[in-house]
Amino acid sequence: MTKKRIAIFGSTGSIGRQALEVIEKNADKFDVEILTAQTNDTLLIEQALKFTPNAVVIGDENKYTAVNNVLASKNIKVFTGEKALEDVAGFDSYDMMLAAIVGFAGLKPTLKAISAGKAIALANKETLVVAGDIVMQNALEKKVPIIPVDSEHSAIFQCLLGESRNPIEKIILTASGGPFLGKKPNFLVNVKKDHALQHPNWAMGAKITIDSATLMNKGLEMIEAKWLFNLQPNQVQVLIHPQSIIHSMVQFNDGSVKAQMGLPDMKLPIQYALTFPERLPSNAKRADFAKINALTFEEPDIKTFRNLTLATQALAKGGNLPCILNAANEMAVWAFLHNRIGFLDITAVVEQTMEKITFIEKPNLDEYFESDGEARSFAASLIKI
Ligand code: NAD
Ligand code: MG
Repeated sequence: MTKKRIAIFGSTGSIGRQALEVIEKNADKFDVEILTAQTNDTLLIEQALKFTPNAVVIGDENKYTAVNNVLASKNIKVFTGEKALEDVAGFDSYDMMLAAIVGFAGLKPTLKAISAGKAIALANKETLVVAGDIVMQNALEKKVPIIPVDSEHSAIFQCLLGESRNPIEKIILTASGGPFLGKKPNFLVNVKKDHALQHPNWAMGAKITIDSATLMNKGLEMIEAKWLFNLQPNQVQVLIHPQSIIHSMVQFNDGSVKAQMGLPDMKLPIQYALTFPERLPSNAKRADFAKINALTFEEPDIKTFRNLTLATQALAKGGNLPCILNAANEMAVWAFLHNRIGFLDITAVVEQTMEKITFIEKPNLDEYFESDGEARSFAASLIKI
């Protein structure tokens, strides 16, 4: 059996590290061909020495010499800089990209991989939020599968297997509610980053952990779902489910609902995306339903967590509005993580940026990049950075 050759873009992150654990346990099935990291040279070197890829990219040019000094003698090619990410994404030497870079930075390499005909295991939801129409259209033209890694979307993907001819009435995206479920603005106004970084059910990178606390993560996931599953905005419902056992559900036109369940463990959807359509054995902890007393559901509090309302507007209006929302959110989350703005200011920055930047109904790729840049500059002026 030939091994599947994997390129992990963002290998030092939470998703990237867990993917390497999955690959290590299934070493007979996978070869690691490419690893990339932005700043963590120490971990990138460690990963490269262990998995012996063909090439690595260290984004931060100041770290190039340190990485190259260790890896060049091991026959591992070392590249640096933003452009190198795209070049390496176009290499022949791999079969599937795990897109696990965080944020807008993941878009260009993913587009390049699609144009090179590579299968994509997609963790980087911002790619679809920013330019979902172009990404999905390119994938369709190249006959490239985009397999979701995000747990909710993996759940929906799994519920839809065998249902390709059956109309979907709606999907129900479940949300844990994050660390501030049930809290009101008078509490949230004083929230600091250390508290916001404590997620009850999942251990993830800093940006997505803050997005989970503000519910922007679920907003981004609504837009991600629209593109992945070709849905109308009113077919996407969000429901709070604090236990994170049901990862999401699909309701069909006969009223029947399918759910995908399990304990919250990202290694599961990562492994499934890498091995689809096969399932490989895993020793992941099993859900013991006899011990789970209750699965509960409630409506999200969209008056308090207004990011969800903003994302719903962006989803409904489309065009470059999701791109603007994403750019402003990336800036605002960065500022919050650097103690420049308060928790509730994140929503204010996103809202004002969405109002300010010119709406484009059917942007081309350059216009998406321009909208991203304009939104970042305006958000920066609000944050005063
Ligand atoms: P993370 O912050 O832990 O890791 C991000 C990775 O991207 C790192 O390897 C980093 O070096 C790289 N990176 C950061 N900025 C970069 C830049 N400008 N250019 C190139 N590389 C850069 O993030 P994560 O939690 O692993 O999340 C990665 C993506 O997966 C995000 O889009 C997130 O929304 C999505 N996701 C994550 C989880 C999770 O459990 N962590 C779950 C679902 C979806
Ligand atoms: Mg998710």
